[in-house]
Amino acid sequence: MRGLMMDNGLTINSLIEHTNKFHPKTEIVSRSIEGPIHRYTYAESYVRMNKLANALFRLGIKKGDRVGTLAWNGYRHFELYFGISGIGAICHTINPRLFGDQLTYIINHANDKILFCDLSIVPILKNIVANISKVQTFVIMTDKENMSQVELENCLCYEDLIENESKICEWPEIDENDASSLCYTSGTTSNPKGVLYSHRSVVLHSFAVCASDGLGISARDAVLPVVPMFHVNAWGIPYACAMTGAKIVFPGDKMDGKSISDLLISEKVTFSAGVPTVWLMLLQHLSETAQKLPDLERTIVGGSAVPPSMIETFEKEFNVSCIHAWGMTEMSPLGTVGHMTNSIKEIGNGNLLKLKAKQGRPLFGVNMKIIDDDENELEHDGQVFGELCVKGPWVTSSYFEDETDSFTKDGWFRTGDVATIDPHGFMEVVDRSKDVIKSGGEWISSIELENIAVGHSGVLEAAVIGIYDKKWGERPLLICVKKEGIELTHDDIISTYEGKVAKWCFPEATEFVLELPHTATGKVKKSVLREQFKDYEFKG
Ligand code: ADP
Repeated sequence: MRGLMMDNGLTINSLIEHTNKFHPKTEIVSRSIEGPIHRYTYAESYVRMNKLANALFRLGIKKGDRVGTLAWNGYRHFELYFGISGIGAICHTINPRLFGDQLTYIINHANDKILFCDLSIVPILKNIVANISKVQTFVIMTDKENMSQVELENCLCYEDLIENESKICEWPEIDENDASSLCYTSGTTSNPKGVLYSHRSVVLHSFAVCASDGLGISARDAVLPVVPMFHVNAWGIPYACAMTGAKIVFPGDKMDGKSISDLLISEKVTFSAGVPTVWLMLLQHLSETAQKLPDLERTIVGGSAVPPSMIETFEKEFNVSCIHAWGMTEMSPLGTVGHMTNSIKEIGNGNLLKLKAKQGRPLFGVNMKIIDDDENELEHDGQVFGELCVKGPWVTSSYFEDETDSFTKDGWFRTGDVATIDPHGFMEVVDRSKDVIKSGGEWISSIELENIAVGHSGVLEAAVIGIYDKKWGERPLLICVKKEGIELTHDDIISTYEGKVAKWCFPEATEFVLELPHTATGKVKKSVLREQFKDYEFKG
């Protein structure tokens, strides 16, 4: 017997229709690319989404067509999220920090019909425009006045495009399993791969983002997503804000410490989210200017491992809870969040920090297991590690028009992360499988060594890679960026390892560099470091 409940589809349109109806006056604030702060409400945004949708119809966009965006976090990008998916087309967010070849590959592979581009990204677009001939229309996301500075032929102006359109759109019926949006993985080793989300997966993921054991976003929050909207849909935050009517504060293209802290303070932001490198810049700025963050309650940090020292600084100096989260483009991206449970409240402070530094517990909707080389499931004892595999309604089942060997025989997605799961359900990423250092038959976690190095007061950023060693196979090399004006030696740093890991895990040597290479999503690019240090030999 079937249940007798209404069969209302879970669609992205329903999110924005809800906010328009029940939170019409809540603000969306953006640092615009043109400069000034822009403010309007959800209701005003909704009107423009309707106009945009009508303009897309006029340009011939149909269900299933891909519409690309090359844009930072701002109100026009927000309108595109809903305007494109709302008519059944696919909002394809593209990371402008990728190399030209990768951008060309992604835009051609996705077969984008229209490309929307922020004013400050036009020079990047100009460099690749000759190689993306299948794109029919380019729209620059700005107003008439600023079009004069655009050095690209035959492109439209966003404000012109929507100006005379009707404020009412006949949104088409959408099946909740229809595709809504597309993101490509960074593709460090091969071509980027597309992950195609559905309306249903986005809405279910948004419920998880809003749950209190998720990111806990609510109507009482002012939310500043530092994580870019081209990076796994800003971790689903724009959709979650629309679901709850939370105020949104978009930082535009300015992610430096001062710009972010100015907005956090002036807009009374309560919740923010970003990768550790961005928070490093913010914390440094705050320490230089002796500023506090009076309204910020919590920040979610993920994308790469969060050093425990960062969690402590946020909590002790700023009274902000710093919550570790883990996920992937293939997972929409939320997988685990490091909220505590009643059963572990009693443990001592030192252990609590260790637990907070783990990547967290899976949310309902994400099933998780660790496996050995023969795909046997391993215990949850917090010690045994294996490859982390996941399953769930917002996990990809295959890549967009691409081959893949990323699944187990029984259909779980293989994350490529090596992890432990403890009896409380906390998952800890030991390493990316390709980054783990294999020394004398044992495994050394590069993440663990990096976290300890960053805990030293003179170290700004650190990376650890394995270097070939005749006797042990590989030994860890620490590559460090010192804080400005600090003198440091290998021995100074090594003393911080005492008592934290076994002696044989200590970095064999330290090399100091001025900066570390980063991927387009803010992770340290270990492949570049491995290439740079490929002939490195330990002395003595
Ligand atoms: P994102 O950058 O949004 O996390 P990607 O798909 O680009 O998504 O990268 C996913 C990978 O990033 C994960 O498989 C994992 O290796 C790494 N990662 C993400 N979050 C964390 C975290 N909190 N700690 C350690 N590694 C992480």
